[in-house]
Amino acid sequence: MLKKERYHHFVEYFSKNQPDAVTELHYNSPYQLLVAVILSAQCTDKRINQVTPALFERFPDAESLAVSNAEEIFPYIRSVSYPNNKAKHLAGMGKMLVEQFNSVVPSSIDQLQKMPGVGRKTANVIASVVYDAPAMAVDTHVFRVANRIGLTNNARTPLAVEKELVKYLPNEVLAIAHHWLILHGRYICVARTPKCEICPLTWFCRYYERAHTEKALLKAEADKARKAKEAAKKKKLNVISRELKKRTISKD
Ligand code: SF4
Repeated sequence: MLKKERYHHFVEYFSKNQPDAVTELHYNSPYQLLVAVILSAQCTDKRINQVTPALFERFPDAESLAVSNAEEIFPYIRSVSYPNNKAKHLAGMGKMLVEQFNSVVPSSIDQLQKMPGVGRKTANVIASVVYDAPAMAVDTHVFRVANRIGLTNNARTPLAVEKELVKYLPNEVLAIAHHWLILHGRYICVARTPKCEICPLTWFCRYYERAHTEKALLKAEADKARKAKEAAKKKKLNVISRELKKRTISKD
């Protein structure tokens, strides 16, 4: 199947079946989403949603974060991964947001990336979710699922995956496609053993196609070897049987 066809089926399936996919992070403002996404690096959304209510109550906006420091933030996020670094990042991000961006979360990927704790993935999430920009944030789920389905030609880096997805997906679905890929990777196309037996995408998934083609080839080879072994055994038995007959006749 051609890559373009896979894209077509991918967009068609999810547009029909998950037209309202959204992030599972809880937030009420661009500032809160930015904080939640920074915290979510190498951590689950579920865990982040457990800590953000208290964090947002104490630091409800950029101004309150800007006048705090890492030591004050740390207790609120101690249960997430890398809490020390993230506390420093949040404190720095709050200050920069107030001092350089007038407390408004910027929409430009470059400006977003200037803030502590904001890498390309986080910047793309903010640009696409908050500003509906045609950006694609590539996290571990997006990277894995896009490669497995065959939306990329086994791209090796998140940036390469991002470029291919941006190139082939229609602009109007780029933002939501990010959620389609994440949710599919989180619940069905999981990292260790993808749940292909319950996946609705098998008929256009490259990974599935290859796994089953390989399986079929291995089975055919095993069948061939078994038949050859059986034929050799039969031949040997025939030889023995003929030999026994000969000996019986000569004795007589
Ligand atoms: S068929 Fe399997 S590998 Fe392909 S997307 Fe579905 S779960 Fe992932």
